[in-house]
Amino acid sequence: MTRYLYNICFLFIIGCFLTACSQPVYYVTRPVSNPTYEQVVVSTPVKVNEPVKTPVKRKAKALIVVDAGHGGKDLGAESDATPKYQEKILTLSTARMLKTYLEQLGHTVIMTRDSDVFIALDDRADFANKRKPAAFVSVHFNTAPNKEAEGIEVFYYRSDTDKIRSATSKILAQDVLKRSLEQTQAKSRGVKHGNLAVIRETKMPAILIEGGFLTHATEVQKLKNANYLKQLAWGIAQGVDDFVADEDDES
Ligand SMILES: [Zn+2]
Repeated sequence: MTRYLYNICFLFIIGCFLTACSQPVYYVTRPVSNPTYEQVVVSTPVKVNEPVKTPVKRKAKALIVVDAGHGGKDLGAESDATPKYQEKILTLSTARMLKTYLEQLGHTVIMTRDSDVFIALDDRADFANKRKPAAFVSVHFNTAPNKEAEGIEVFYYRSDTDKIRSATSKILAQDVLKRSLEQTQAKSRGVKHGNLAVIRETKMPAILIEGGFLTHATEVQKLKNANYLKQLAWGIAQGVDDFVADEDDES
């Protein structure tokens, strides 16, 4: 009887082991200097080359607030195809890469979130307003009913009451779009005015970048690739750096 129980237990353990082994394998990249991809779950392994480009540190140093869109119960957009890619995960991964690159360029970065938590839009703006950064960058990804829609667009808030902030936000948006396109070769959807809470309620130059469409069959494949997100993050970082350097020259 004891031997019978022993055999049952043994078969149960083997069964558990085989079940665990048959789960889909998620490849998590852990590059040496950018430990920022833990949240990127990709179905096929990707090779991440280091570095994309050696950062050249500039004179101007600034405090930047990086905002990873959505989080927690707010999933944001989702890809059509399975496995589903959630915007809140891609934004956090990209925001972490962006933080790393901005720090390599000599800037100080604070993130509104660095984990999968829900933060209200007004709280994100308040968080930035209290810290008075040189720039606020919110990272998002897009969806559209039109499956042909693709590319990068950058929003700023156009205000009649604070024209200086609107103008500087627009310059920041142009710098970030230009550099992001250079790095990713994505299609440009331009710089646009957007009445969006995080860029409306913030008091410093602020932009919201939509880094690509989860509903576009080809673009979503790129967004699943940590290498592509890295290029996007490096482009955003360079754009912010250009903006800070230009502001510094003028002051
Ligand atoms: Zn979003």
